Amino acid sequence: LRSKLPCVGATIFTKMSRLAEEHRAINLAQGFPEFDCAPELQKLVGKYIAEGKNQYAPMAGVISLREAIAQKVFAATGNEYHPETEITITSGATEALYVALSTVVHPGDEVIVFEPAYDSYVPAIELNGGIPVFVTLHPQYEAIDWQDVKSKISPNTKAIVINTPHNPTGNVWKLADLQQLADIAEKHDLMVISDEVYEHIIFDGRAHISTASIPALAERTFLCGSFGKTFHTTGWKIGYCLAPKALTTEFRKIHQFLVFSVVAPIQFAMAEYLENPEHYLSLSAFYQQKRDLFNDAIQGIGFTFRPSEGSFFQNVSYENLTQQNDRELAERLTIEAGVASIPVSVFYNELTSYKTLRFCFAKNDDTLLRAAELLGKVI
Ligand code: PMP
Ligand code: GLN
Repeated sequence: LRSKLPCVGATIFTKMSRLAEEHRAINLAQGFPEFDCAPELQKLVGKYIAEGKNQYAPMAGVISLREAIAQKVFAATGNEYHPETEITITSGATEALYVALSTVVHPGDEVIVFEPAYDSYVPAIELNGGIPVFVTLHPQYEAIDWQDVKSKISPNTKAIVINTPHNPTGNVWKLADLQQLADIAEKHDLMVISDEVYEHIIFDGRAHISTASIPALAERTFLCGSFGKTFHTTGWKIGYCLAPKALTTEFRKIHQFLVFSVVAPIQFAMAEYLENPEHYLSLSAFYQQKRDLFNDAIQGIGFTFRPSEGSFFQNVSYENLTQQNDRELAERLTIEAGVASIPVSVFYNELTSYKTLRFCFAKNDDTLLRAAELLGKVI
């Protein structure tokens, strides 16, 4: 068999989680919460299963969930997405991102990707015959170099992938960034794939500025979201894609043959749970406390970092501590300290020598404190 993805193996998340399990290490590698979702939400799922909502959901998703998303997005951005024609429920953001890229990319098309990049974008581009073109940022970058972005655009550029709040750096885009993007996308007629899965995890009084809030962007954007991060339900794999009608029509042509539809009872439960905005608006404060607790605890170890602006990840540089490369160090710390992390170099297309690890702080306070203590003993 000739491989479609010859350079791809098991993802770093699978690798590090496996290594963590093998060595009984604290897993601050793969991004998932240690705590459970709300009992109220669990009860709702049980209720809808008992009520018999157990057959195929509509292809585009349960309508009450699409309506709830439309209301939530309208309240946050002033943009009205039509539940019937512009909102599709997907199997996690992963499916939304894949289908959006598949909808847009024809063989030979170039797609701009900022790196470090979440690991699913590039394979999705390549499986559709596209060519990723990288705008490379330092793991501790402070601002996007828009001149560099412009220099990477060619007549073959079809789309650009963005992610804010950003995994793995924790950086958050400012209004000026979105305006720059809108200008460039308009000028070169680019589609935008916007990964906003951490929209509700944002710190120090910042606000998430969604592509949905900027009409010039929204008209050319596939906005991909996920309830996994927002409701501590990464295992449920419920996400969504918002896009104008013409784009959604094409998106659904692919979605219907990839999964057809998504787990039904959970969609009903999510729709009801979304009625109370407190269920997601309190998330930033919840995670900010964890970020601060973790950062205070690792302060004395000698890592250098800027506090994460959003997401549940903290990147740290260890260049003052050891010259070991990040893949070896992440492995060594898992085995010797009992704390797993993600080496940030894996989020780059070519091997880099950046000395940065990513820690996930979606964990109980005592787990975070224990991890910091263990790291301090070994590094
Ligand atoms: N995008 C980013 C930036 C992520 O971190 C993740 C997963 N954690 C996803 C997409 C995928 O989301 P889902 O689990 O809903 O497929
Ligand atoms: N998004 C999660 C992370 O960045 C992991 C998702 C996965 O395991 N594929 O850690």
